[in-house]
Amino acid sequence: MSNTAHDDDWVKRPADASDGTTCTAADYERMYAESVDDADGFWAEQAARLDWIEKPTRIAGWSYDPVDIKWFEDGKLNICHNAVDRHVDAGNGDRVALIFEPDSPDGEGRTITYAELKAEVVRMANTLKKLGVKKGDRVTIYMPMIPEGAFAMLACARIGAIHSVIFGGFSPDAIAGRVEDCRSDWIVTADQGLRGSKVVPLKANVDAALEKASAKAVLVVRHTGGDVAMTEGRDHWYQELSADVGEECPCEPMNAEDPLFILYTSGSTGSPKGVLHTTGGYSVWTETTFRYVFDYRPGEIYWCTADIGWVTGHSYIVYGPLQNGATSLMFEGVPNYPDHDRFWAVCEKHKVNIFYTAPTAIRALMREGEGHVAKHDLSSLRLLGSVGEPINPEAWRWYHDHVGGGRTPVVDTWWQTETGGIMITTLPGAHDMKPGSAGRPFFGICPQLVDNDGHVLDGATEGNLCITRSWPGQARTVYGDHERFIQTYFSTYPGKYFTGDGCRRDADGYYWITGRVDDVINVSGHRMGTAEVESALVLHPKVSEAAVVGYPHDIKGQGIYCYVTLNAGEESSDDFAGELRQWVRKEIGPIATPDHLHFTPGLPKTRSGKIMRRILRKIAENEFGSLGDTSTLADPTIVDSLIEGRQNR
Ligand code: ATP
Ligand code: MG
Repeated sequence: MSNTAHDDDWVKRPADASDGTTCTAADYERMYAESVDDADGFWAEQAARLDWIEKPTRIAGWSYDPVDIKWFEDGKLNICHNAVDRHVDAGNGDRVALIFEPDSPDGEGRTITYAELKAEVVRMANTLKKLGVKKGDRVTIYMPMIPEGAFAMLACARIGAIHSVIFGGFSPDAIAGRVEDCRSDWIVTADQGLRGSKVVPLKANVDAALEKASAKAVLVVRHTGGDVAMTEGRDHWYQELSADVGEECPCEPMNAEDPLFILYTSGSTGSPKGVLHTTGGYSVWTETTFRYVFDYRPGEIYWCTADIGWVTGHSYIVYGPLQNGATSLMFEGVPNYPDHDRFWAVCEKHKVNIFYTAPTAIRALMREGEGHVAKHDLSSLRLLGSVGEPINPEAWRWYHDHVGGGRTPVVDTWWQTETGGIMITTLPGAHDMKPGSAGRPFFGICPQLVDNDGHVLDGATEGNLCITRSWPGQARTVYGDHERFIQTYFSTYPGKYFTGDGCRRDADGYYWITGRVDDVINVSGHRMGTAEVESALVLHPKVSEAAVVGYPHDIKGQGIYCYVTLNAGEESSDDFAGELRQWVRKEIGPIATPDHLHFTPGLPKTRSGKIMRRILRKIAENEFGSLGDTSTLADPTIVDSLIEGRQNR
């Protein structure tokens, strides 16, 4: 067993975690049991916190064989009403809904109350209506991280249009493909975006995309004021078109199963899938998970650093927090501009209480040293979260000790675009933590580990992670391709939802995500998750990041190929390579000794910051002729330099 992840490496939850509203250990056990034994009763009760136009009487109505997923199917509601109007109606219109922190610390920020948010959303909704958008129409949103991005999402939800948000870093080709895939006739964008002082030519990218795809209208929010071309008849300035729209726009009554949004997955494992979420189940799931996982208390400042272009931004910048009446911070910039302390400067400035980010950001900032953290007063922080990838215990510790001052719980939340919200996590007042383990299943979630033949594995074990019962936030289909939905998620192990992730369950019932199932390697008959070797590598003080893949090996079956990025200022050498091999042997054992160490200044990552291992696998296999879809890579040039430096020739 490795030194890097210990089953008995407990970090206690704070003794004073409970303020009387928090879910305690006893609450969790009781509620989890209820959620499984009486799913209908449990979810009817959770759903009752929301306003319904018609209360649902049918709660769980799903089947995995054949695949047909429905929740609350005879209910009617509108998520925009629950995220916005409801709070104003309850007399909380003066509460701050959104805090906008601009790219530059000298830029102009904004605070938007719930009453102001309602007015803004109504304005956007009426502007969309003016352009002809109706219930059921698809609207593409390609925006920087500015409040208008959230207004546009909520405005679509308000009028029953289906939004498809595309991350503002994507290329014209990626936009064109997604616009065509869901046949979206409207695009909401901005003149330009700003990221780390660099200008992102959003409108120009849309123009280029529309040479390949078609749209009836483009609505352009003036943000930087930069020069952009406007096509007569097709393009409209938001500020102008919205000037004379009405101040009323009722929320469209939506059936619980009416589509809410389409979101394309990040494309780590194949071409992106247009995952479809519907209204009722997604509302209940994001409201409930946000409430319990982040243990939100009125008045607190919550900051999720994701982009609204990812599901994390949908569920935990916009819909989850706002349905709970929380104050959600939106940050336009990047962690390292103007310096590596920007996150901590923003936490200090806004007295952030709950902070939620990704391991890739934590590792990048850790690499720059804790001096950047120490400069700031982070005493407001009460809870930290992580999402997107397995977090190696080393980074977990750094996050907990330096950012959280050793006081704050860390919730490591495992979930997927397809799951709509958090599935496995510890709850801050209920569970002690183990660095590197996501923890326990959320209410209603029944994880199951199976071997490659689908046999159920009991107790402490390791296998392929499936979920045996539906939950309200589950995706209903892949837009326009239900067959692909069934094939991808339900055909490997019939009757179960297969996540594609590998996972270990320990004797305490804690789950440890080991990475994608494709990333498990088998060395001389020993199966190991590549994440384990990566954790060992990054534990070395000179190593910043590592990605490990298997490749065919004559004797061992599979060999271990490690891509390694060193900390700023460190140099690789043959001696160092030898030292690192020894290090891994010591951490995990001789079986995990790297066969190839490939030092590289960077790794191929998706725009959401995830390492695209399928490319690394091809290069390690010396088969780099067919790398597949690389359109979602952040920096495609890194691929050529990796091929150039390949070790297995
Ligand atoms: P694609 O499905 O197109 O390959 P993707 O899987 O990267 O893209 P997402 O839905 O954004 O797209 O990511 C979900 C995946 O991220 C999970 O299946 C898991 O592999 C990983 N993940 C997310 N959170 C965690 C976590 N806390 N611990 C471990 N892995 C995580
Ligand atoms: Mg996925």
